[in-house]
Amino acid sequence: MSFGDLEVLKGVSLTAHEGDVISILGSSGSGKSTFLRCINFLNVPDKGRVVLEGEEVSVRKDAKGNIIGADAKQIQRLRSQLGFVFQSFNLWSHMTVLQNVMEGPVQVLGRPKDEVREEALKVLDEVGIAQKADAYPSQLSGGQQQRVAIARALAMNPKVLLFDEPTSALDPELVGEVLRVMRQLAEQGRTMVVVTHEMGFAREVSNRVIFLHNGKVEEDGPPEQVFENPKSERCKAFLASIL
Ligand code: ADP
Ligand code: MG
Repeated sequence: MSFGDLEVLKGVSLTAHEGDVISILGSSGSGKSTFLRCINFLNVPDKGRVVLEGEEVSVRKDAKGNIIGADAKQIQRLRSQLGFVFQSFNLWSHMTVLQNVMEGPVQVLGRPKDEVREEALKVLDEVGIAQKADAYPSQLSGGQQQRVAIARALAMNPKVLLFDEPTSALDPELVGEVLRVMRQLAEQGRTMVVVTHEMGFAREVSNRVIFLHNGKVEEDGPPEQVFENPKSERCKAFLASIL
């Protein structure tokens, strides 16, 4: 995966199984977001493929930068099976909390509003924010907004949840409420790929930890191994710098 002449990912490969909770660690600029965005086709790799439940997309760019290998419909269909939670929440500010959560199922999946409303209220309850259903994002704290963003992703009933530093934009006292919701989802057996700097989460909640450095996987294993006994010197140095 490149941006112009800058090769950002150099042959990164990841297979996730149902129920996996994978944490991706790495310093700023190592390619974590780019990798996550490739899974969701927000970035288009120069080569490689994404396979979701046996359905394969070899989406890539040709020499002129045109996207080839998949059509917009296929990408939209696969994307709707992947919930993405951004660092900066990205809620629609002109819509209420409930409308934010209902938008995807109604507009993208074409499902009936009454049914979707009922389910949306359920997922809002799951993330502990049902009482704010009629509020606008600007009336919520960052932690509350991020929980709404998680509810919005869940409402699409995705096969995999992708998180890109979901707590990095939050004031420290609001981090816990979001991590609690994420832990709860992991315990329900949700498949999750989480870019994070929260080492407690990576260590205690995930079953696999990946350390990216300069667009390459430097370390990949169960948390005990990566945290107690990393093979890579770079991973050791990274952990020493933040723990
Ligand atoms: P991380 O999430 O690990 O901090 P990123 O995946 O965001 O890293 O970025 C990896 C590298 O790619 C960085 O050098 C960054 O500057 C570059 N990069 C990311 N997005 C773009 C873009 N849209 N255009 C050009 N360069 C980019
Ligand atoms: Mg990033």
